[in-house]
Amino acid sequence: MTEQKKIVLATKNPGKLRELTNAFAGLPVQIVSLAAFGELPDAVEDGRTFAENALIKAKFYAALTKCACLADDSGLEVAVLDGAPGVLSARFAGFHAADADNNEKLLSELARKNAAESAAAYRCVLAYVDGETEILTEGICRGTVKNVAKGSGGFGYDPYFYVGEKTLAEISLAEKEKISHRGQAMKAMAAKLRQVCAFMPVKESSS
Ligand code: IMP
Repeated sequence: MTEQKKIVLATKNPGKLRELTNAFAGLPVQIVSLAAFGELPDAVEDGRTFAENALIKAKFYAALTKCACLADDSGLEVAVLDGAPGVLSARFAGFHAADADNNEKLLSELARKNAAESAAAYRCVLAYVDGETEILTEGICRGTVKNVAKGSGGFGYDPYFYVGEKTLAEISLAEKEKISHRGQAMKAMAAKLRQVCAFMPVKESSS
């Protein structure tokens, strides 16, 4: 029997946790939420890029939990705002801002540019850290942000992020996984982890 690898997901965001847990269903890995380790401090996400922040988080929680750790950093890049909010997406309207506050800020920044819409992209980098092993994967979802909200699913900026006629808040989780930045980064990570798992020690069956 193949031994199951325990991987801690470094997120407290339930939306991300749902999406990430689904993606690794077929792998011989046991996904554990950070919540299982009680109160842990927050990593200081002071990187300049999504990749730097994802690695900071994965290394920080791998050290604290003594487990392999998977972390993501993601955000929205809006062309007319010169790539903002970027790595500041979660705190566009200030530290601990709610999604509604960040969306208000997005609308006011678009208005300042006299733009009803703009080309935009969601970007996600996943970082896996297990001792000396570091694996990074990236996914991009291109679309348009518009100043009209539609739908009640998803999270964050989804009601304002259009791919074709629909926003990401109007499609199912399964549909979102197929096209989303995180879905693509997860697919690439699952493929790389499958290779890692293929080299894991094989446990003797007790029967
Ligand atoms: P972090 O990756 O937790 O640092 O924060 C990323 C932020 O980017 C989130 O708080 C959201 O505001 C935004 N974001 C990232 N991915 C998505 C998504 O799939 N839908 C909507 N907003 C997202």
